[in-house]
Amino acid sequence: MRTVEEKRETVQASLLKRRASLVKQGLCRDCGLNSIAAQVGKRRPTLCATCRADRRDREIERRQKRRRLDVADFATCYDFVLANEDYTPPRYATVPDPTRSDPLALAISGINSAEFPEQFEVIFAAATPVERAPLVADFYRKTYFTAELAQLSNPVAMRLMDAEVNEGTGAGVKLLQKACLALGATLEVDGALGPLTIAAANACDQDALVAGFKAARVAAYEAIGGPDLPEWVARADK
Ligand SMILES: [Zn+2]
Repeated sequence: MRTVEEKRETVQASLLKRRASLVKQGLCRDCGLNSIAAQVGKRRPTLCATCRADRRDREIERRQKRRRLDVADFATCYDFVLANEDYTPPRYATVPDPTRSDPLALAISGINSAEFPEQFEVIFAAATPVERAPLVADFYRKTYFTAELAQLSNPVAMRLMDAEVNEGTGAGVKLLQKACLALGATLEVDGALGPLTIAAANACDQDALVAGFKAARVAAYEAIGGPDLPEWVARADK
């Protein structure tokens, strides 16, 4: 039995042969109907004027589409996350944020002293909000806005970054992978944001993917439950 790859090669070869024979007859290699007129500055024309124009239009459309695909930028993602992590004014203030291991833990803009002691110390040492602002932004950029995350669209990337901040690195990616699976993608739910996951996410309808991601995140929170559930669900549904 022939493999799919072999079949594809055979089809490809016969197509090339057919095209060459059309051109030899002075016919367009795309439509096989119109004759190919000599063009100025082109030695061997292979397309008729109509097909040449069609190809040009399709190429223009492809380029426009590529330009429209807005890849994520840090400012958009960071604004979204900070609005969730530091929503009680004044911004960049030091607030109590007890954890299981440290009941006296503090936080600045969601950066917990027990979870990120070194980074917290540096930000805590900066006295004013004006001094703290760039340090906080720098923390989120280095910790969460990875080169991989930046390859997703803004609506997906900002919600993924928010989930990673709140649920931990890897947990958010798993939600994204589940949402991709629900939309028909083939991939492994391993929590790693690699080229396959990025390609799968970008191939999905972005509105549908956002809706699926929100639903998966809400379901994960509901499975945990607890007193913070309403707040978490509201955040996940943004
Ligand atoms: Zn043609």
